Amino acid sequence: MVIDSHCHLDLLAEKKDINQVLLEAAEAQVAAIVVPGINEQNWMAVNQLANEHAMVSFALGFHPMFLDKVGAGSIGRLEQRIAESISNSKLVAVGECGLDLYQGRENERQQKSLLIEQIRIANQHQLPVILHCRKAHQDLIALLKQNPPLNGGVIHGFSGSYQQAMDYVNLGLKIGVGGVITYQRAQKTRSTIATLPLESLLLETDAPDMPLCGYQGRPNEPKMVKMVLSSLIMLRSENKQTVTSQLLKNSKSTFKFCD
Ligand SMILES: [Zn+2]
Repeated sequence: MVIDSHCHLDLLAEKKDINQVLLEAAEAQVAAIVVPGINEQNWMAVNQLANEHAMVSFALGFHPMFLDKVGAGSIGRLEQRIAESISNSKLVAVGECGLDLYQGRENERQQKSLLIEQIRIANQHQLPVILHCRKAHQDLIALLKQNPPLNGGVIHGFSGSYQQAMDYVNLGLKIGVGGVITYQRAQKTRSTIATLPLESLLLETDAPDMPLCGYQGRPNEPKMVKMVLSSLIMLRSENKQTVTSQLLKNSKSTFKFCD
């Protein structure tokens, strides 16, 4: 069994029949799928997907790329929504939140304060965080050292150096391994993932984005997490069984899934 720890099923639903997607995921031995929130407009959709499908769990948060949708009262509404949903075992994290400096630093301060608020809310409700990071590892690591998430979480879709990854691991976070490792050219990330502690890794697709090598141009799907696992097994020194069972264990302990 495998768990897709990061899948935007609500966005995939705009392109594909979700019942079929989930059926194929189940056939590919996907046991659970975590669907992150990105802004207030999709919280309802991710919550509903989790209510309707046994294998789907959800998270609520503000993605740093959609700051135009964040205004006065947004954090208060996140706080309220999480307080209302906390008894729902399908709510497994706060996120997707983080830093994205790909387009520059013009809204850096707003991104950082929004992230700090979301870490505070996660800590208050004993939830892990799902973190997004692009062109911002040094900033994010510094921010997390100042504002540590107390219940773990994941740096999703990681690509970067061993040292950056270990900085996150030392903060109690997991490293989200996605389709990037299926590309030969991703040498730095592949060798990082090959050598990190096996206990620190989670599998993900980030569907419908981040197509695997050979599947560019089509929407990515949760069933592909099985192929991310196959690539990971080829990179690692441990045997197939050890990698598979440890990765399952890692997801379960991060998101407090029950057996
Ligand atoms: Zn995402």
